[in-house]
Amino acid sequence: MLRISNIKIFEDISDEEIFLVALKKNKINQKDVISWHISKKSIDARKKDNVHYNYSIDIELKNEDKYKNLTKVKDFDFPKIEINATFNKRPVIIGAGPGGLFAAITLIQNGIKPIIIEQGQPVEERKQSVDNFLNNGNLNVFSNVQFGEGGAGTFSDGKLTTGINSPFCKKVLETFVNFGAPKQILYIAKPHIGTDNLIHIIKNIREYIIKNGGTFYFNTKAIDFKIENNKVKSIICQKVTDSSVINEIETDSIILAIGHSSRDTFTKLYEKGFLLERKNFSVGVRIEHLQEQINHSQYGTITKLHLPPAEYKLAYHSPTGRSCYTFCMCPGGVVMASSSEKNTIVTNGMSKFSRNGKNANSAVLVNVTPDDFEGNSPLARY
Ligand SMILES: Cc1cc2nc3c(=O)[nH]c(=O)nc-3n(C[C@H](O)[C@H](O)[C@H](O)COP(=O)(O)OP(=O)(O)OC[C@H]3O[C@@H](n4cnc5c(N)ncnc54)[C@H](O)[C@@H]3O)c2cc1C
Repeated sequence: MLRISNIKIFEDISDEEIFLVALKKNKINQKDVISWHISKKSIDARKKDNVHYNYSIDIELKNEDKYKNLTKVKDFDFPKIEINATFNKRPVIIGAGPGGLFAAITLIQNGIKPIIIEQGQPVEERKQSVDNFLNNGNLNVFSNVQFGEGGAGTFSDGKLTTGINSPFCKKVLETFVNFGAPKQILYIAKPHIGTDNLIHIIKNIREYIIKNGGTFYFNTKAIDFKIENNKVKSIICQKVTDSSVINEIETDSIILAIGHSSRDTFTKLYEKGFLLERKNFSVGVRIEHLQEQINHSQYGTITKLHLPPAEYKLAYHSPTGRSCYTFCMCPGGVVMASSSEKNTIVTNGMSKFSRNGKNANSAVLVNVTPDDFEGNSPLARY
């Protein structure tokens, strides 16, 4: 394939028309085209009198040699994870957030059939528990905005951006598309899925895992671990809907994918002698403002394009090493209560795929280091 880059688009036209603009600009005969697709789409709003989309198109051509001005697209080698370990017992994954679900997909692709334990509900039932909390204030401490199938980001913006540069990023995006995410996440500069789409995608991932031999135990919490000679023997689980139901699952391998908020499980692991380390994190508040003001500030008023709700990112790095920055901006989203523990307040932002709400919000955070806490305990709370 060859790549046509830097296609500037100043008005709302269809993908087909953009393709024709690209052909014309590069003097490509349409009869030579075998196939094409958009490979990148971003907005350039640096100059308010010149706001435009910037596209790249990958194109397969007969007589490729005729078009020497175009660059060849390197074949992308999808990274493979090969698991060479032998398992005497089925491996157990604790947690059905993105970490746990992607671990399960990877095991299955290597012919291994994991058991997945999740304290929360399947995502459809979890949605009802979240609605019940938001509408009536009834918090289910096991299944809420942070806990349950799909994990902490399910009721969020579904942002898929990251600062790391790894071939696995593309693999993650492709996996989401295979399970029903909009194809545009493969090429837009700042892709997001939206809560409304995520719920269906998570359900599709679960169905794939079950169809291929994986087993889910929902409403089931790992409460203890049996360890002999420094090796895991079994996991003790409790049904959260009936605390008298206790099960023991024998296994010799556990993948802990419990996220960052499962304080009771971290305490249990610490008591059992697992090594826990303190790490940096960030803490802050949510701010909310009119989306229209952000659009105005980012895009100006001259452009004729119907652009998507605008985003922003602000950062201040003080010479003392402390930074303050905005994070997880939700264009056209809502601020919502996101507690997972009783008598605590947690707020987050959430958007639908369309991001068509009146307001925008974002987190304003400051970084916190282990030195900000008294003592050395990895479980210190203040
Ligand atoms: C409110 C919020 C919004 C976010 N929005 C975004 C976003 O838009 N984009 C983005 O990239 N990131 C977002 N993030 C960050 C992202 O959600 C996390 O990085 C990601 O969820 C971490 O995945 P994980 O699988 O490691 O853990 P988690 O998603 O936290 O999943 C852990 C799972 O383990 C389960 N669990 C824990 N302990 C036990 C136990 N003992 N027994 C059984 N089950 C257990 C929990 O119930 C939970 O479902 C958001 C995070 C939060 C908190």
